[in-house]
Amino acid sequence: MSSLLEGKNIVVMGVANERSIAWGITKSLHNAGANLIFTYRQERSYQKLVRLLEKNNITPKLTVSCDVESDESIKVAFKEIEDKVNVIHGLVHSVAFAKREELQGEYADTSRDGFLLAQNISAYSLVAVTKQAKALMTEGGSIVTQTYIGSEQVIPNYNVMGVAKASLEASVRYLAEDMGKYGIRVNAISAGPIRTLSAKGVSGFNEKTSIIEEKAPLRRNVDQDQVGDATLFLVSELARGITGEVLHVDSGYHIIG
Ligand code: NDP
Repeated sequence: MSSLLEGKNIVVMGVANERSIAWGITKSLHNAGANLIFTYRQERSYQKLVRLLEKNNITPKLTVSCDVESDESIKVAFKEIEDKVNVIHGLVHSVAFAKREELQGEYADTSRDGFLLAQNISAYSLVAVTKQAKALMTEGGSIVTQTYIGSEQVIPNYNVMGVAKASLEASVRYLAEDMGKYGIRVNAISAGPIRTLSAKGVSGFNEKTSIIEEKAPLRRNVDQDQVGDATLFLVSELARGITGEVLHVDSGYHIIG
């Protein structure tokens, strides 16, 4: 597996700390020989990322600031990537956000602002970064985003984020059709619940993991490394026949009625 992504430039968006799904993905892509370009939003995430990379002997090709809420920030980030790296072969989108107060109680209480914010950062951002990435994927490429089963089923408290994930998954299909003719694939991973900074914002997280242990075919939860390896697969040529897909990495939980 060590040469699967040799010479490939892959952008990773969304490492906030060592628990981030994007950090599991980083390790898998690095072990496969990829050159990594990172984007971060908060200075705090940047500091953590730098320390993590040092600790794990990973030398990034580039690290740039990118707030996906802002078209200007996305434009500036990808201009810097173009100037320093030129061609990219992959992009991992692992960012989402909703206000904490929208992730509890009844979905019917969702505010207009909260709804639009979740859609903006968690779904529209994939559209915006795909457009920028396309311009740099002159040798073809693969884009992978991260979703959750709350898009398909009503999961208590996931509320506005479930609706944003439904929008994200529909975007994966529309973008896959648009990008296919340029040799660019677009897919999503639907991971089981993993204890991360973002997951802490959703009420009742412990119940979600207990249900997986009890009901999923594999009777255990998944971790960041398992999502990392599945993302590596989708980014790599091994998945060259796959686009517009949502791949569940959830110990099989989604097949249980
Ligand atoms: P993390 O909190 O570790 O990562 C979320 C990332 O989103 C952070 O790096 C954060 O950056 C970034 N982000 C938020 N807003 C913006 C913005 N406006 N611009 C740029 N970046 C932004 O949590 P996870 O690793 O859990 O989340 C990664 C993805 O995985 C999300 O899409 C999430 O919905 C999805 N997912 C998570 C599951 C879980 O159980 N944890 C299950 C299934 C899917 P910063 O901290 O710098 O603001």
